[in-house]
Amino acid sequence: MRYDVVVAGGGPAGSRVAELLSPNWEVAVLEEHEVSGLPVQCTGLISPRVLKLCGVDQVPKNVLHGARLHFPGGRDISVRSSEPKGVVIDRALLDQQMAENAIDAGAEFFYNRRYLKRIWNGGHRLHYCEDNQIGEMECRLLVGADGQNSRVGREIGAGEPREWVRGLQVDLPIEDDSDMVDIHVGNEVAPGFFAWKLPCGEFTRVGLCVSWDSGPPSHYLRAYLKKLGLQDEKPIDKHCGKIPLGGRGPTYADGVMLVGDAAGQVKPASGGGLHPGLLSARCLAETADASLNQERTDAAFLKRYEKAWTKEVGKELARTYRLRRVFTGMSDPDFDKAAALVDRPDIHEILNYGDIDHPAELAPRLLRKSPGLLRFSPRLIAAMLSR
Ligand SMILES: Cc1cc2nc3c(=O)[nH]c(=O)nc-3n(C[C@H](O)[C@H](O)[C@H](O)COP(=O)(O)OP(=O)(O)OC[C@H]3O[C@@H](n4cnc5c(N)ncnc54)[C@H](O)[C@@H]3O)c2cc1C
Repeated sequence: MRYDVVVAGGGPAGSRVAELLSPNWEVAVLEEHEVSGLPVQCTGLISPRVLKLCGVDQVPKNVLHGARLHFPGGRDISVRSSEPKGVVIDRALLDQQMAENAIDAGAEFFYNRRYLKRIWNGGHRLHYCEDNQIGEMECRLLVGADGQNSRVGREIGAGEPREWVRGLQVDLPIEDDSDMVDIHVGNEVAPGFFAWKLPCGEFTRVGLCVSWDSGPPSHYLRAYLKKLGLQDEKPIDKHCGKIPLGGRGPTYADGVMLVGDAAGQVKPASGGGLHPGLLSARCLAETADASLNQERTDAAFLKRYEKAWTKEVGKELARTYRLRRVFTGMSDPDFDKAAALVDRPDIHEILNYGDIDHPAELAPRLLRKSPGLLRFSPRLIAAMLSR
């Protein structure tokens, strides 16, 4: 079996790359599970813009117009817009729909087939495992879209991300179609990240992420459910997973490019990976197309992919990661002081314009209106202002 491109991983990033390249090239996707999208490792909260980028037709479970931010000392701030800010999607269905789009575009999907390793000799000979048997196939380009624990990434020395956070969430049988998500911050509730109560229409999703050195998130989730008075509700579903933050690299090598979580393309403020992963998938497809046309699959040529995705999303991810470092350095009294500084009508106006795909864009406007925020980390926040 010989292909122009083999994509390891049939998640959103891999399917999108396959969909974009299949009209012109022979593309195969190896997915180790029997279906795309399962097990679910996602809250399913994305912007309407990202749902469009996915190219699927899905009626959201709920549409959100804002958030209630809860601070450790008891202050609540509501941020709200007349425009929809987020949609709650069925993530398993989304992955399956995106795989269908790739298949319709001509990609060949191989389920239950795990990518194992490659031997590079100007082209690749790949080993995979299927039904406990080792098989081989050949390709000119290999795309590592194999998620946070990317085997392809390890092979090319992409290294560990700067940081991992661990997430855990449960779905509770409580109908809620309100259009506001509740977000709790604080080192007791969710050290190093935040907790959420997300209305999903037919049910309510409650979860949190915590920094790696805080240990497993289970006891934080139990405490959070108790805080919300929901500890006696019997979950109808449960998801967990870890999220790479702060980037990793390189994201290319001879005949190889990484995309999505495999490339560390994840938003540091929210852990969302769909937006940066899908924008980077387009950059990857453009480079792959040029590389195959010009018969240049060497690392020196593929370097342009890293340049392209850094320009498209990487700079903003880096800027948001610097903001995250400020966030993780804050104590609970710091959170309360920061909340007091922004709890003013003129600053609410700014917060209402917040965009979940571009959170760092708020920072300069907030700092100009409330320079008192600089006390939390003058050096880092000043860097935000200068871009
Ligand atoms: C708790 C939690 C909540 C999250 N919530 C959100 C959210 O609300 N919004 C958002 O945008 N993001 C969210 N994310 C992040 C988001 O889920 C990821 O960024 C996204 O799934 C990345 O897509 P991907 O295609 O790069 O990788 P994945 O979705 O992980 O897909 C990788 C695929 O590769 C397959 N695979 C792995 N290894 C191999 C192999 N060796 N051979 C073949 N196949 C292989 C896997 O089975 C998988 O199907 C969340 C993550 C977690 C953990």
